[in-house]
Amino acid sequence: MIDPRVLEKMNIYMTREYGNAASNEHAFGWNANEAVNIAREKISNSINCSPNEIYFTSGATESNNLAILGSINLQSDNSHIISLKTEHKSVIDIFNYASINNINTTLLNVKQDGMIDLDIFEKSITSNTKLVSIMMANNEIGVIQPIPEISRICKKHNVILHVDAAQALGKIKFDLINLDIDLMSLSAHKIYGPKGIGALYVNRKTMKNRIKSITYGGGHENGLRPGTLPVHNIVGFGEACEIIYNEINDNTSLITELTDLMLQSLNNGYPGFILNGHSKIRIPGNLNISFPDLKEEPLIQRLRKIAVSSGSACTTSSPEPSHVLSALGINNRLINSTIRIGIGKFNTINDIKDAANYILKVVNKLKIKKNIKMVKKD
Ligand SMILES: *Cc1c(COP(=O)(O)O)cnc(C)c1O
Repeated sequence: MIDPRVLEKMNIYMTREYGNAASNEHAFGWNANEAVNIAREKISNSINCSPNEIYFTSGATESNNLAILGSINLQSDNSHIISLKTEHKSVIDIFNYASINNINTTLLNVKQDGMIDLDIFEKSITSNTKLVSIMMANNEIGVIQPIPEISRICKKHNVILHVDAAQALGKIKFDLINLDIDLMSLSAHKIYGPKGIGALYVNRKTMKNRIKSITYGGGHENGLRPGTLPVHNIVGFGEACEIIYNEINDNTSLITELTDLMLQSLNNGYPGFILNGHSKIRIPGNLNISFPDLKEEPLIQRLRKIAVSSGSACTTSSPEPSHVLSALGINNRLINSTIRIGIGKFNTINDIKDAANYILKVVNKLKIKKNIKMVKKD
């Protein structure tokens, strides 16, 4: 749900202040431009970069496309790019597209807990490697990759590092002055902001003349991303970013408490459940849980009353098992008995208790009764 304070701000720019930020002939244009500047500042202040390093896009998917495809030359060079098998579907798809366009691509396996293997990663870098794309926090299993170590390896080999931080924004504090990252994708709707707006952070020192636009049009956003700016969405994104970082400590303690309560409740009613992904190095509020020994049918279809999902929200329309869970080595049968539970700042203790009870009722009904033979003594 959008934060009501964000919606309130956006309303102004959809009604009274409906100027085009690129029109500099009248006050409506100036006001719109001013609002965009303020939003850009709010976002850059939250992650400690310069406002002119923020380029607005339609979301993290587009930012991922611009970051990766804008940094390589399809067809014309023998570039090599590296990512993980557990990345967001958009990155996987971009890699597939690059691969059929003469780019050498590597999608690395992860460890069983979903973490990158830094040795294997460094060994996979060749003299042709141009870009590495690794997400900060995983959207399906919540694990946090060691970005500082990954960045050190990238710098050592002079490789561009792109980080998809759509899940990390607002949940992890990070400081782009100290993190050696070249490109970073952000999205507003993961932080209670509007859908359809995101940004690409472009490090102005390291990326100078190293990234080009992948769409064509007017000169907006320094020519890197042409198109009329959606002022209301940008204002909403700026507001959402400021709010989420002002309140990050309170949100983190609330969501951690609710997440622990969910785990505790599930453990009381179904002790054999499996939490997928590293148990500690993870963002709060993102639980991916498998229930072993259930009848072979998609668990998710039995849980219609609450908003749990299978694999990822972005790919629920596809019947294939989650590529992330497959990469962790989980078999299709267990993937069928796996759900993803998202817990946010608007949830309450009662929400969690109700959801846990409902889930437990369903899974215990689906549990295969093992025939336990009573052996009579004597
Ligand atoms: C949600 C998400 C995306 C896609 O973001 P959109 O703004 O919806 O395009 C990309 N990467 C990750 C890790 C995400 O969680």
